[in-house]
Amino acid sequence: MRIEFIAYESMGVRAMSTFVETKDMLIYIDPGVSLAPRRYGLPPHEIEIRRLEELAQKIYEKARDSEFIIITHYHYDHHDRGLRIPLDIYDRKILCIKDPLNNINYSQKIRSSVFLKLVKDRVRSIEICDNRIMRIGSLEMIFSEAQPHGHDPRLGYVIQIFINDKENTFLYTSDIEGAPLEQHIDFIKRSSPDIIVMDGPLTYLLGIRLPEEMLRRSVQNTIEIIEKVNPEILVLEHHILRDKDYKERFKEVFNKAEEMNTKVLTAAEFMGQENMFLEAYRYKLFGKEFKEGSYEEHDEATE
Ligand SMILES: [Zn+2]
Ligand SMILES: [Zn+2]
Repeated sequence: MRIEFIAYESMGVRAMSTFVETKDMLIYIDPGVSLAPRRYGLPPHEIEIRRLEELAQKIYEKARDSEFIIITHYHYDHHDRGLRIPLDIYDRKILCIKDPLNNINYSQKIRSSVFLKLVKDRVRSIEICDNRIMRIGSLEMIFSEAQPHGHDPRLGYVIQIFINDKENTFLYTSDIEGAPLEQHIDFIKRSSPDIIVMDGPLTYLLGIRLPEEMLRRSVQNTIEIIEKVNPEILVLEHHILRDKDYKERFKEVFNKAEEMNTKVLTAAEFMGQENMFLEAYRYKLFGKEFKEGSYEEHDEATE
C-alpha cells in the first residue's frame, strides 16, 4: 500500500487527513481540516489561513479520486460540511462512518445528522463501521469498537482503523489522545501494524484538559506499543504537535523507540517534507514572545 498523509499538524493545520492506495481500493480517511480559532490569545495568522486553503484543495483532489471514504468521528477537523471541501467528493462513494446514533455524545449526534443529510443522496452506500471487518479482494479493513475520544468520553467516541493489504499493515488511531486507556492500546496490540499514525495527548493543555496522570498513562502506553508491537514507523501527530515542546514531553517514548529501532516521525517527515508547526509557533508568526501558561480552551467548538 502507499500511504499519503495529506493534512496534519506538522503541515500547518489541525487534521489527520490521509489517503491510502491499495491495489483493491483507494481509501480516504477523515477528509476535514481546521485551525485553532485562538492560540496564545491570537487568531489564525494569514500564513495559516493560506495553508488551510492549500491543504483543503489537496484533500479535495485526493478524496474525489478515492472510492471509499471513512469518517472516524464528527469533529470538524475530521469531516467537512461542504464549507471548505466541496461535497462532490462523496459522489458515488462507499461512505464508512462511525455509528451516528450509538456511543456518541450529543454534539456529535447533531453534527452527524447534519452531515448525513448533506451526503446521503450523493453516496453509493453508507456503512456503519464500528466493530466491523471488511474484506475486498486481498484487502482487509478492521474497525475498532467505539472508543472514547481520550480519557474523557464527554468529548465523544471514535473508531480506529487497521488496514492490511498483505503487503503492509497500517493503523490509524484517530483521536484517542495518546491512548491513555487500556482499550485504546488493546486494539493496537491485537492488530500489530508495521506503520501506525497516532494522535498524541493534548500536552499544550496539561493541567487544564489533560491531567498529569493521563499524560503519564499515555507515555506508558505508547512505550508498551513500541515494546509489544515494535512497529517499523510510529507517526506521532495531531494534538501533541500543537505543543512546541512535544519531544521533551514524550522523551521516554523517543528513547524507547530508539532502543527498539522504531522510527518516530511526524506526517510531514514521513512524506519527506519540512515540518511546518504553525499553530505551536503562532506567537512567532505575529512577532510576539512566547508566554508560558496562556490559557487555551479545548472543547468541541474548536475541533
Ligand atoms: Zn476529535
Ligand atoms: Zn482531531
